[in-house]
Order: sequence, then C-alpha cells, then structure tokens
Amino acid sequence: MAESVVSLLNQPCLEHHLSQLQSPFDCFLRLPMNPDFVSPLEQPAAFEVSKGSLLRKAIPSASGASKPFLIAGPCSAETPAQFDLTLNGLVPLGPDLIRAGIWKPRTRPNRFEGVGVEGLRWVREMTRERNLLLAVEVAQPAQAEAALKFEVDVVWIGARTTVNPFLVDELGKVLASSPLPVMIKNPINPDLELWLGAVERLEVLGLHDLALVHRGFSPFEPSPYRNMPQWEIPIELRRRRPDLPMYCDPSHITGDARLVPEFAQIALDLCYDGWMFEVHHNPSHAWSDPDQQLTPDQLVRTLNGLKLRKNDLHDPSELSGLSELRQEVDHLDHELLDLLSRRLQLSHRLGEIKKDFDLPILQPRRWEQILNTRTSAGHSMGLDSSFLFKWLQLMHQESIRRQLEVYRSDSAKTP
Ligand code: PEP
Ligand code: MN
Repeated sequence: MAESVVSLLNQPCLEHHLSQLQSPFDCFLRLPMNPDFVSPLEQPAAFEVSKGSLLRKAIPSASGASKPFLIAGPCSAETPAQFDLTLNGLVPLGPDLIRAGIWKPRTRPNRFEGVGVEGLRWVREMTRERNLLLAVEVAQPAQAEAALKFEVDVVWIGARTTVNPFLVDELGKVLASSPLPVMIKNPINPDLELWLGAVERLEVLGLHDLALVHRGFSPFEPSPYRNMPQWEIPIELRRRRPDLPMYCDPSHITGDARLVPEFAQIALDLCYDGWMFEVHHNPSHAWSDPDQQLTPDQLVRTLNGLKLRKNDLHDPSELSGLSELRQEVDHLDHELLDLLSRRLQLSHRLGEIKKDFDLPILQPRRWEQILNTRTSAGHSMGLDSSFLFKWLQLMHQESIRRQLEVYRSDSAKTP
C-alpha cells in the first residue's frame, strides 16, 4: 500500500480532487544563459549537512518514501482570534514549523503592513502554549533584534530582501549573535548567484542552520502564476549546494489556492525537502494574500491527495526494468553527442568556405529555413515545439561562435 503524506503525519485520510488548470512546466525550459554558469565538470564542493539542524531535509522512512518538512501558517498574523483559530486547525497535522508574517512587505503603500512587534508577543505565546515552533520574516535589523528578544525559533529572509546584499549582511550580523536558523527565500528576480550569495553571506557570519525556500520569480509578462517557478534555478542550486534543505512555497508561486495542491505534488516529484504553505482559518477575509491561502481542512485534503515518491528502489525487479532503459538512454545520448560533434564540425567547415568567399556568417534565410524544416519534422516525431526551438537556437549560437573563431583566427587583434 502506498504511504500518504498525512499517514506519515499520523492523520486520517480524506479524498482529494483537483482539476489541473495549467501545465506548470510551460515555463520549465528556460535555459540558463548566465555567464556565471558552473559546469558540472567543476564538481560542487563536498558539504556536510550540519548535525542537529532544526531546518532538516526530508527524512527517509522505512517504506522508502521521505517525510517532508511541513511549514504552515497565515500570511500575516492579524488578531489573536484569527491566529488561535488557524493554529487550532493546524495542530492535528503536527507541523514542523508555524509561519506568521509580523511585518509585511507590501508592493503598494497604504495597505495592511503587519501587526508589528506587539503581535510578536501573542504569536510567541500562542505557539508556545501548543508546543509549536515559530518562524517569522525579518527584513530590517530592528526586526531581527525583536525576533531574538521574543525568542522565535526560526526567521526567514523574504524575496524582496534577498536581493539586497547590504541588508542581508546587516540582518546576518544581528542574527549571528544568537545564532538562529534562517530560511532564505529566492530573490524576486531569477538570479541564482544572488540567492546563493545571500546564503554565503550568512555562512561567512557564522550562521549554518540554513534552508532555501523557492517561491518563484516575478513575471515580466502576463503569466498564469503569481510568480514563475523557473524550476531549473532551484534544481541547479540544489546541485551546487546539496547539503541545504530546499522547501517549496506553492502559495506564493501560484498565488491561487486552487493550484496549490498541484504544485505541492510537483515539489515531491522534484525531491524538495518540504513545503511552506500559507494557511488561514478564513482565507477570503485575510488581510493579505486572500487568494492563495488554504483553510486548515484544505491543507489536510491537499496532503492526503499527494503521492509520496520512493527515493530508493528496494525491489530488484523494478530496478532491472529501469536499468535496461537507462542503458539504452546512455547509448542514445552517446550517439547524440557523436552526431552533435560531427554536426558542429561541419559548421566549422562552412565557416571556412564562407570566409573564403567573403560571405557574412549569419545567413538569415538559411536560418529561417533550418528553423522551419527542423521544427516541423521534429514536431511530427512528437517533439515539443518550444523545446525544438530552444535546442535549434542553442545549436545555431554555438555554430556562429565557432564560425566567428574561424573569421577571427588571422584577423588583426588591434586596430
Ligand atoms: C511571505 O512569505 O509572506 C512573503 C512576503 O513572501 P515572499 O518574500 O516570498 O514574497
Ligand atoms: Mn503572503
């Protein structure tokens, strides 16, 4: 019998139904063009997962499925009554950590900006009464000092703060005096180096109980989601820092409570270590982010509808089917590499001929023809057109780069 998330959390099972509204992978294949790209040939340094960390990775269970880290709580702590009702709904789920926004970074002025330090007092008391661990967002040194004074268990740095190295340093200096576990949300812009930079700044200051929270990136064009997931960024960051737990915040990615379950499942399918869910006892009356918060019951249904994946395969028969296919994949990949290498050698020779005849490297009509013929041929073979387009663009770029080298090989370096 498959193990459910909630059975791992010792909860009764409920049915879950949610129709898929969009393909969340539409925005998956944005290829990293970052000049700081770290090649897999440069192996990520070996990092030790720090022992005794509160912010943990998913724990493997006996069945092979992993128990994810569950963070839940309201976008904002609004009133003691609201927080009380929300916590009461969450307690049966046994969350690992409660989130509560005390100071709210709002995009526009004259909106609710959080209850402030006074709220910290009752939020701390009410979580402590229930033996729950508490996380709040800090964006200014004074807020970090207040978080320490009220003995919160964890703080997080929000997306609008991760972008600012000065602020990350200032926060880190205050927090290092304690030192507190810190979760670092991705910056609002899709910049992996900036996200990693914030982590490293905190580490330099002596903070080592750290985790990453993927909450998506501000879209620059109309988008089906509040924030674009751009999954390739957290995937690459995990490759470079496999020691750090990576949690998914499906509430801020989607901006829509109806989409949260689908994204919570994707997080499991992509080996995230847990989630941060926004939960409110009455979302439509929430003072911030009303559209994306789940009720505690909806969170239970969401968790019950999720399918846990086994990270280790124990059954050798399952494994043999997989390894046969993998051998075939290995073989085809080598063939593809061989073809690619031969294909690009031809580009080099084309460059030599074009150079002899004083032709420009870029031949727009030929490029248009390549794009059209390959896209339609590939499409009829079941290949996705946006994948084909990106692959052809990449190959064309590399072909132009090689031809530029041919053209430059004997041209004068200085005027
Ligand atoms: C939040 O978690 O409430 C929040 C403001 O998140 P983000 O920094 O991801 O926008
Ligand atoms: Mn929010």
